[in-house]
Amino acid sequence: MVIESYLYEKLNGEVRCKTCWHNCKLKEEQWGICRVRKNEKGRLMVYNYGLVSSIALDPIEKKPLHNFKPGSRVLSFGSVSCNFKCDHCQNFEISFADLSFPYLKELSTEDVLRLCKERNADGVAWTYNEPSIWHEFALDASKIVKKHGYFVVYVTNGYMSYEAIDQFKVLDAANVDVKAFSQKFYSKICKAKLENVIKTVEYLHRKGVFVEITYLIIPEENDSREEIKDFSKWVVSVDRRIPVHFSRFHPDFKMLDKIVTPIKKIEEAVEIAKEEGVEYVYAGNVWGHRYENTYCPNCNYLLIERHGFYLRKINVKDKKCPNCGYGQNIVL
Ligand code: SF4
Repeated sequence: MVIESYLYEKLNGEVRCKTCWHNCKLKEEQWGICRVRKNEKGRLMVYNYGLVSSIALDPIEKKPLHNFKPGSRVLSFGSVSCNFKCDHCQNFEISFADLSFPYLKELSTEDVLRLCKERNADGVAWTYNEPSIWHEFALDASKIVKKHGYFVVYVTNGYMSYEAIDQFKVLDAANVDVKAFSQKFYSKICKAKLENVIKTVEYLHRKGVFVEITYLIIPEENDSREEIKDFSKWVVSVDRRIPVHFSRFHPDFKMLDKIVTPIKKIEEAVEIAKEEGVEYVYAGNVWGHRYENTYCPNCNYLLIERHGFYLRKINVKDKKCPNCGYGQNIVL
């Protein structure tokens, strides 16, 4: 289905999209960077409404979200394309695909609700490719499922505009990828701007969306002690209680010349972030590691025990540590 964008301005035959920070200004017949929006006779039309490439019922730990509804099951939807062009994309089969992708299936917003019921989900996740370029469908379907008691989460590269966030009032939580803490990396690898990602994270947090951050550590690209330290200092300046996931890189797509991140590097990053004062710091893609667990930032008591994506035990009472009484940034 093709619909008119919810966020754009008309400029004498041209249009300016206001859905993400690229703010594409498009002449007639021109497509946006995300390749799913086009200026058609002076109107910005959206071509991916309801077009789904992937659906799966996932543990929320897989998003990853560790402090929001631990142990819940999220029905996850993805489409195609992206507004970034990352050389190391871990989902390049769909993120670099366009609307000619052969496995796209059209769903209605009511189908999303029906599937949530059928699969006994607790919430919905917009994920796999960048959800903000799917803004209209994600928003409409989220409004419906929310009315029926399901929560809504985003897994995003953090490039959605303030206007898109303002319009998406039903968003409960987001895991935002901060792919590095240098503009050099964002220019070279993602073709985007770090300052905009920073603004989006801060705005989501200010608006009351529960934010967690993933930082994928790529050897020799974004793994220096200084960069991890600067990143951690920034997280603390926003809110030390924002959970951070340092995730292990595996060579993919155009970055096959890199090695898998040594586990020591992940541990080092976790320790730097903790030293800087980040309260919840996790290791990702390191199945069975102790840093998959949640510990009390005050007394180090084991609050939530995990193994990979699976929850073993929750020891939190009334959002407090049962050992020392410290208040936790955990939504059960
Ligand atoms: S969503 Fe972003 S990339 Fe796509 S057309 Fe709009 S501004 Fe451009």
